[in-house]
Amino acid sequence: MECERCHATMLEEAFEDIWADSWTTRFLGWRCLVCGNILDPVILANRSGPSRDPRNGVRRRHNARSL
Ligand SMILES: [Zn+2]
Repeated sequence: MECERCHATMLEEAFEDIWADSWTTRFLGWRCLVCGNILDPVILANRSGPSRDPRNGVRRRHNARSL
């Protein structure tokens, strides 16, 4: 995956979306090593379809390599 901003290499990373106390989604996205740009499946899906704002939640970065 190449960053669309600076064209540097992006790292695959695990993220967590916490929408409510009991509702957590884990997914894989990409983070740019240089500019910190983040791409995730939600962003990619929103680009191809009509702009539909999902529920607002707290997005917490989770580094898979720290496990
Ligand atoms: Zn970048």
